[in-house]
Amino acid sequence: MTLSPLEKTGILIEALPYIRQFYGKTVVIKYGGHAMVNCELKKAVMQDAVLMHLVGMRPVIVHGGGPEITSMLGRLGKQSQFIQGQRVTDAETMEIVEMVLVGKINKEIVANIHRYGGKAIGLCGKDGHLIEARKQVAHIQKDGEEMDLDLGYVGQVERVNPGIIETVIAEGYIPVVAPIGVGPEGESYNINADLVAGELAVALQADKLVLLTDVEGILADRNDPASLISSLEVGRVPELIQQGVIAGGMIPKVNCCIRALDGGVKKTHIIDGRIPHSILLEVFTDTGVGTMVVPG
Ligand code: ADP
Ligand code: MG
Repeated sequence: MTLSPLEKTGILIEALPYIRQFYGKTVVIKYGGHAMVNCELKKAVMQDAVLMHLVGMRPVIVHGGGPEITSMLGRLGKQSQFIQGQRVTDAETMEIVEMVLVGKINKEIVANIHRYGGKAIGLCGKDGHLIEARKQVAHIQKDGEEMDLDLGYVGQVERVNPGIIETVIAEGYIPVVAPIGVGPEGESYNINADLVAGELAVALQADKLVLLTDVEGILADRNDPASLISSLEVGRVPELIQQGVIAGGMIPKVNCCIRALDGGVKKTHIIDGRIPHSILLEVFTDTGVGTMVVPG
């Protein structure tokens, strides 16, 4: 498809009010799913972050890494059990999770941002004591009774100390955060990256939280991509979870949007990371590319 000069300038001009609106503003991006695996999508996400940064926004990336962790555990002959979408993490698994997330994936993202013309610094929750964590216990219903389940080193965010992020941004770098928290004894915790992104967005008082995923957004019928809910009011969420419409990995996503809105983040979006440059579309154009979770 070739665009006429008028169409090209039209697109740039459409971005102008958004660039002005978001100049100097913080946007936290949860990077995960397909967009972390597919080469074309990887490049597009890096370019989006670099572009946002160069026009004066403050993008902060929080990444996941589930599939790579699973593949490394497999190579080492370990299998994981999942409870409520969380990986049960024993001490040995935690070691591998940390090595893959912090040692491999985080540094790859940093290297790619540099490759596409930006500057980035990789951090995990231990750096500057960024993410203080405590053990998370899962509550499940069994035979009509509430039970606690031990998930090992699965953590929840206790406190965020965003100082190191501010420093890194002030020095002109894009912060890239691996979702590992640090416990009271210096131990590591494996935390869902959506939750980290939400808490970080609150601590930074971000203007926008964008969660990339491998579906169109929140669907009214999971088997029908055309059933996208483009705007979802917080008040409707408990009912949708109760009915099983929102389930699995979508639950932490929507909950973290709610938490972020409660904590003062202005806008929250769950968008389709399979569309190249979906972040750019969301931030710089009138095109909606997923579900916006809104107060109400
Ligand atoms: P990510 O890697 O992006 O965190 P997850 O697998 O954790 O992905 O969460 C997204 C998944 O949630 C979807 O792939 C889908 O299977 C599931 N899901 C559950 N309920 C819904 C819903 N109502 N709409 C869309 N996806 C849903
Ligand atoms: Mg998930």
